[in-house]
Amino acid sequence: MEPVEVALVLVLTGARVLAPDAGSWLEDHAVVVADGRIAAVGPLSELDVPAGAERVELEGYLIPGLIDLHSHLLLHPYDEASWNDQVLKESLELRTIRATAAAKVTLEAGFTTLRELGTEGAAYADVALRDSIGAGIVPGPRIFAATRALVATGCYGPSGFDPRWDVPKGAQVADGPDGVRVAVREQIAAGADWIKVYADYRRKPGDASTPTYSAAELAAIVDEATSAGVPVAAHASTDEAIRRSVAAGVKTIEHGYDASLETLVVMREKGVVLCPTLTASESIARYSGWRPGSPEPPRVAKARALVERAIRSGVTIACGSDVGVFTHGENARELELLVAYGLDPTAALRSATTIAADVLSRPDLGRIAAGATADLVLLRGDPLADPSALRAPLAVYKDGKLAVDRRN
Ligand SMILES: [Zn+2]
Repeated sequence: MEPVEVALVLVLTGARVLAPDAGSWLEDHAVVVADGRIAAVGPLSELDVPAGAERVELEGYLIPGLIDLHSHLLLHPYDEASWNDQVLKESLELRTIRATAAAKVTLEAGFTTLRELGTEGAAYADVALRDSIGAGIVPGPRIFAATRALVATGCYGPSGFDPRWDVPKGAQVADGPDGVRVAVREQIAAGADWIKVYADYRRKPGDASTPTYSAAELAAIVDEATSAGVPVAAHASTDEAIRRSVAAGVKTIEHGYDASLETLVVMREKGVVLCPTLTASESIARYSGWRPGSPEPPRVAKARALVERAIRSGVTIACGSDVGVFTHGENARELELLVAYGLDPTAALRSATTIAADVLSRPDLGRIAAGATADLVLLRGDPLADPSALRAPLAVYKDGKLAVDRRN
């Protein structure tokens, strides 16, 4: 006799369930999970529960799997090894093995989806990791991969070497409207789900950032990616680079620290989303010796001021932490900082759930609702009261399967 494939049906009861608006809790609601999807949400007495379903009694707060739109699994914290040393000295094999371990830690921290924004010299390792996780070979979040990222000549690290040396870069160098089109085609052919472009950067160590790509180059990048149905994310901190990127049609701005209020308003009007990467700024300040409680160094003050302007402008803020600069699995620090800098906890939770899912054009993610993907996180405390409740979840489900269980 052929083995019978039994579909696993779970009925999760007892927890408060985050409402689809991410701003309130549904009491006495159960969640039915079947075949990796949420089949139904409602009071148990009103649900049609299939015979043989396994009932799981939970205690706490049930939220959708979290999404970080700016991660670097191929990097590890800069206080362990400098970015230059990671890019120039660590082998691709070592970096990929580290990333595989980081993916597991990330999933167990409740982040079930990542947008990987550049391998920083580790070629197409993000595509291999994405596909290995997707095939169930190793555990980890679902990954949207940007592969190598695009940089203009002389506008990315490692830099500062004698010009005689042809030092490898942490991203793919491409110039001119035709050149960038070729690079976009290469990255998409190799598996890129997103294209990342560095619209500004420092030319030498210690310099301030200046715009790199011209409006014509950015337009060519977006046009070429859009032809393939691939969206574009722009690294941009200077107001001018943000303006050029927004005019070219990118979907998200990464960092954005020097965005003017006027530019943030233009972003809102055009539906361009801001990923402020607050935790990266804070971590780099900590690596230089700063401790919270002492006077804020300029880079932290700048990040705080950006959040204040962003709230005033009404631009959509998404969770993009730049994890990799800091410890994998600590992605939720981004939500804690968003709240510390003035965003209300509901908007912060949305930034890593519904808003991030919409950026990825995946409305089945980031929500606990019938038909959604069954990515679920059980917390001990209420993250709408205190976002530190997001640290160390009690249990994580991805695609309806238990990824970690710390309930005992
Ligand atoms: Zn980054």
